[in-house]
Amino acid sequence: MNLLIMGPPGSGKGTQSKYICEKYNIIHVSTGDMFRTAVAEKTEVGLLAKGYLDSGEYVPDSVTVRMVEERLTKKDCQNGFLLDGFPRTLEQAECLQKILKSQGKKLDKVINVEADTELIIKRLSGRRVCPKCGSSYHLKTQPPKVENVCDRCGADLIIRPDDCQETVENRIKVYLNNSADLLKYYKNLDLIVTVNGGNPIGTIFKKICIGISENDNN
Ligand code: AMP
Repeated sequence: MNLLIMGPPGSGKGTQSKYICEKYNIIHVSTGDMFRTAVAEKTEVGLLAKGYLDSGEYVPDSVTVRMVEERLTKKDCQNGFLLDGFPRTLEQAECLQKILKSQGKKLDKVINVEADTELIIKRLSGRRVCPKCGSSYHLKTQPPKVENVCDRCGADLIIRPDDCQETVENRIKVYLNNSADLLKYYKNLDLIVTVNGGNPIGTIFKKICIGISENDNN
């Protein structure tokens, strides 16, 4: 099963991704996580990407596409993957089709999580993330069991640097500018499963599972 999940920042993509990967036993490939790790480890890609992440702008395709291509050739992706945060532009989507074709793979579904801007801003202002395992929490709607401590691995939670108001607004703007073309592209390929990110987590997940099983030719 090779899947892709799309949605604006704060739509709940990350949470749904965890559930999807557990249920279908596939690997979560998040370009945002990969870039954050690269920045933290000060790798060549990380040094290049830092400024873009800080401002909420997209890292150039030449860097992003290569990083994804390399990641998808890894052994742990052979059983299936869930791409999260890639592609974000039509150009990246076209590159992805080529990459998958060259690896003898195809996308099975594209999950589109919709959420309005007001909800996103509310969510991101309370978001706390684990810098170690990537788990995501919300101060009000999904707090950790112990204040500021990750349930999964015990690390101290942090506020993502790009969750500050100014960057969030820019990230939403950048997303909206690019996602319409992308959605059209995947609609034409008849791959889209749309869910409402404003619904409760369990409801969204059920809808996603139903969407994945519909017209499932595997
Ligand atoms: P995310 O965690 O998906 O919101 O990504 C965080 C940041 O990583 C974005 O604001 C971009 O700066 C960068 N990034 C992640 N995925 C991509 C992508 N597909 N293309 C370009 N930049 C990306």
